Amino acid sequence: MSETIILKNVRPWGETATDVTIEAGRIRSVSAVAQPNGAKIIDGEGAILLPGFVEAHTHLDKTLYGMPWNPNAVGSTLVEKITNERNSKARLGLDPARQSARQVALSVANGSTHIRSHVDIDTEHGLKGVEGVMATREKYADVIDLEIVAFPQSGMLIRQGTRELMDEALSLGAEVVGGLDPCSMDLDPKGHLNVIFGLAEKHGKPIDIHLHELGELGAFSMRLIIDRTRAHAMAGKVTVSHAFCLGHNDYLAIGRLLDDLAEAGIHIMTTGPAGYPCPPLIRTLDAGITVCSGSDGIRDCWSPYGNADMLERAIFLGMRNDLDRDADIRRAVEVVTVGGAKAMNVERYGLAAGDTADLVLIDGETLAEAVVSRRLRPLTMKRGKVVARNGAALFEVD
Ligand SMILES: [Zn+2]
Repeated sequence: MSETIILKNVRPWGETATDVTIEAGRIRSVSAVAQPNGAKIIDGEGAILLPGFVEAHTHLDKTLYGMPWNPNAVGSTLVEKITNERNSKARLGLDPARQSARQVALSVANGSTHIRSHVDIDTEHGLKGVEGVMATREKYADVIDLEIVAFPQSGMLIRQGTRELMDEALSLGAEVVGGLDPCSMDLDPKGHLNVIFGLAEKHGKPIDIHLHELGELGAFSMRLIIDRTRAHAMAGKVTVSHAFCLGHNDYLAIGRLLDDLAEAGIHIMTTGPAGYPCPPLIRTLDAGITVCSGSDGIRDCWSPYGNADMLERAIFLGMRNDLDRDADIRRAVEVVTVGGAKAMNVERYGLAAGDTADLVLIDGETLAEAVVSRRLRPLTMKRGKVVARNGAALFEVD
């Protein structure tokens, strides 16, 4: 019989203190317990209890975290960054299995219990990235739920053989079909999207497309994505990542796009970037769209920034969108928790009886105060097992 755990004196979403009883990796009840009857007690010391953070967009295969500092002198265009990265992997000795495990440990230490990772597929490196991250997914299955997006980072139609590699990755066990800037990368938006939606249909898998295209061009690609999502009856199974075009300064046009995205059941991922136009968070949520967030690349050949802390990500979302009211800060926290879980179709996610005991404790007077204070997380729990304490993972990685 599995052990019963009582997480005592915790405040779900910063509200009234209570106890959470956990059995067989699930929440059995959320109510004060007077008689522990031999259960194992973990004292929450009044901390705020949230369901585990969901890192819904990152690139585990190519983080340089834990490796010697890589001086960044790369150009500023997308193609320069992509080419530099593809050419640097061997020179830097980047091992996708080792590096993805290092980032998983960092994520868990910061309270994440679920990760969606885009993983590069190209004709130079083949499926090395996917195989490496799959090894990490298996090795650390008891500390993180990890979902792999087969991602054609260097383009798909412009590099012959990439489509076949994507197909192979999905057969091997990648869970999601990735895509990238249908107009500006492959210069063939319909061709690009036809392949992606075709792969999704063939393998019965969802889609997550990087869409950096700005303004009218991005809106055009977005329209094509909406049309195909409807035609393939994929409501709830398509995410558009970044969607910078939704930050375009045309209030009415953006309103129409948001309404159509909501009606088509398409999710939006935003990192709350400081340097690009991006989806207006509250307006996007109010349109009825599921919004998730992520760290994107962490200390990689693109960017030296990032720390896999989704609570800090809520700060970035808040600052980018001028979320000053406590109620709005809570909405940013919902983006990095329930929004991510919904976008990834995670079942039994939450703080109710019967939900999986994927939990994080955060110190703070109120939820908003906890967000802005950036303290270490006292505890991360995965399926009822404590996997991190005070900002440190309780397992070793190379
Ligand atoms: Zn990305």
